[in-house]
Amino acid sequence: MLASSSGERTIGCVKYRRIVAKCGTSLLTAGSDRLDLEAMSRIVGQVVRLRERGADVVIVSSGAQAAGRHRLAHRLRPGKEPSRQAFASVGQSHLMQSWDELFDWHDVVVAQVLLTRRDLADRLGYLNARTTLRDLLDAGTVPIVNENDAVALDHVLASRIGENDTLSAHVANLIDADLLVILTDVDGLFDADPRTSPEAKLIPRVERIDSTIERFASGAHGPGTGGMVTKLMAARIAVQGGADVVIANGHLPNVLVRIAEGEPVGTFFPATANPLESRKRWILGSVTTTGSIVVDAGAAAALRERGRSLLPAGVRDVRGTFERGEAVPVVDLDGERVAVGVTNYSSGELARIKGLRSDRIAGVLGYTYGEEVIHRDNLVVL
Ligand code: GLU
Repeated sequence: MLASSSGERTIGCVKYRRIVAKCGTSLLTAGSDRLDLEAMSRIVGQVVRLRERGADVVIVSSGAQAAGRHRLAHRLRPGKEPSRQAFASVGQSHLMQSWDELFDWHDVVVAQVLLTRRDLADRLGYLNARTTLRDLLDAGTVPIVNENDAVALDHVLASRIGENDTLSAHVANLIDADLLVILTDVDGLFDADPRTSPEAKLIPRVERIDSTIERFASGAHGPGTGGMVTKLMAARIAVQGGADVVIANGHLPNVLVRIAEGEPVGTFFPATANPLESRKRWILGSVTTTGSIVVDAGAAAALRERGRSLLPAGVRDVRGTFERGEAVPVVDLDGERVAVGVTNYSSGELARIKGLRSDRIAGVLGYTYGEEVIHRDNLVVL
């Protein structure tokens, strides 16, 4: 555990010690086309109160692109729309300046941390980011994290609305957060579209993110509106990392403080794991989306119930592509995720040794990286 920067701030402790607050664009702009300083200052006031009550807080802040677009609006030449990266680069400094000034009123120092997914997928980048964030908390600052849009690929930006949701979950894992609050402009997860179905009900608590819950997210909110699908993906990563997750309406009065006090607001996802040790967090945070390993029922049970390593004999199929050393999802024959683990064999190698006994690996490949496809120390069972 970290020595808390907030050692002296012990009066009236809240339930959580380390909190990540993810603030979406719609919240920070209050639905307008520019940053809304009043909305931001309400967040700042709550963060300051949480710190006074003993919690460390990291903000994951969107809003750079919106701020940049607004700043450049009157200077654009017709037909010459800058890229999202350009908007984000213009807006990021304005965004940080706004946070800086608002926190400065409370004599609190902020720090800007720009991350990309690639940084976190790389073991060294992950460790560096973790060390820096911990140092910043130890120094008593409020780190403000955003995706480093300037170096992100445009098609990634375009296709991954809600990337900061995922980023916030990785940040929660990085700092061993016990609470991730995803603040948005809807009240939480509903069982139907609240805009069109008056009978739509808020789901107050989700024990397990299964296919029914996933259906609610895509059906009730649509992939783009409210971005509930990416919020669920984020929740899944963070609860596995040992953090409780709440998706709530950031416009509700004092919402962050109330959640941190344990008041039921929005949709609550209890942590499903004890905080995992560092390596396992990294595995969950860097899981590849380009491929997966399909295992038979026996192997799925051995992983799930007996904490065994994955051997080639249990591998039924290899989907997509991945390299040796990547964190790859392991799924059962029904497509349910069983585990994520660092694979000793690439997808190409695995396709050749799947179903075989381990003592035949060297004969088929001409070499071996060990008898396990994934060693149990490098495996996180879901
Ligand atoms: N990084 C983007 C921005 O600051 C936001 C991405 C997101 O909201 O997921 O504008």
